[in-house]
Amino acid sequence: MFSYRHAFHAGNHADVLKHTVLVAMLRHLTEKDAALTVLDTHAGAGLYRLDGDYAQTSGEAADGVLKLASGTDLAPALADYASVVAGFNTGNKARVYPGSPFIAHHLLRGHDRLKLFELHPTDARTLAGNIAQLEAGRQIAVFSEDGFEGVKKFLPPPARRALLLCDPSYEIKSDYARVAAMVTDALKRFATGTYAVWYPIIPRPEAHDLPRRLKTLATKAGKSWLHATLTVKSSKITVTAAGQEQRPGLPASGMFVINPPHTLKAALQPALPQMVALLGQDRHAAFGLESGG
Ligand code: SAM
Repeated sequence: MFSYRHAFHAGNHADVLKHTVLVAMLRHLTEKDAALTVLDTHAGAGLYRLDGDYAQTSGEAADGVLKLASGTDLAPALADYASVVAGFNTGNKARVYPGSPFIAHHLLRGHDRLKLFELHPTDARTLAGNIAQLEAGRQIAVFSEDGFEGVKKFLPPPARRALLLCDPSYEIKSDYARVAAMVTDALKRFATGTYAVWYPIIPRPEAHDLPRRLKTLATKAGKSWLHATLTVKSSKITVTAAGQEQRPGLPASGMFVINPPHTLKAALQPALPQMVALLGQDRHAAFGLESGG
């Protein structure tokens, strides 16, 4: 079974990028009255305690969301994301971090629908328990099953408006190929959906290839796309004085969106350099933002 647990990473720089993009997309997509279906293929546990044992062990939020201190003059998209996180907390310091299911639910209207997939039995149980407390009834459905396969039955959605977030842990090398296959299939089932894929930027050929594959398949399908990346530090392995190799942890990640809302690029333009300024850890910190189609 998988060992990845998002609780160790909640609120890290990758979540800041991913969830800022998610909030910006949802803001736009909920402007129209027609019902929106949000599909979260890899939902995680839903809510995380930043002062809990998992989070304390790695302290990744300290280098991520907690750097967006209140009082900083944030770009609108980053300020919007920070205010969504603040909505789950009282006081100045965030102790609770909302994962993608709770961020989505926070921004959806009563007639929108949220479908959540989580395969890890413990996280699926925690997710179901957290969601039950929302008393959202039929608005939210939790599936303890494979998200790559599970989403198929919801495409196309009833009101023909959907946002799909695909955020695997990429613990298994085959996840990269499964992402590309799922997006290819989803575009055939529902060509006008918005498809957002998070991926790690690490020295691994599959990771390197994924945005290129997504760009190619979006272009072949005649769809617009947007690609945003955030690097916070060098990916080099260093050696300590005692001769021990030190891996840097996740140095960078990207969000690739097919059929992005037309407002997304302008929203990210001022937010990404600010993420670099606030979260960057060394001179390798940088962002990328390109679009096409
Ligand atoms: N999307 C969440 C968020 O933003 O708050 C975080 C998700 S975490 C990066 C990835 C999750 O996918 C893990 O909880 C893992 O257990 C789950 N997972 C792994 N393989 C899966 C699969 N095939 N289908 C559904 N969930 C899976």
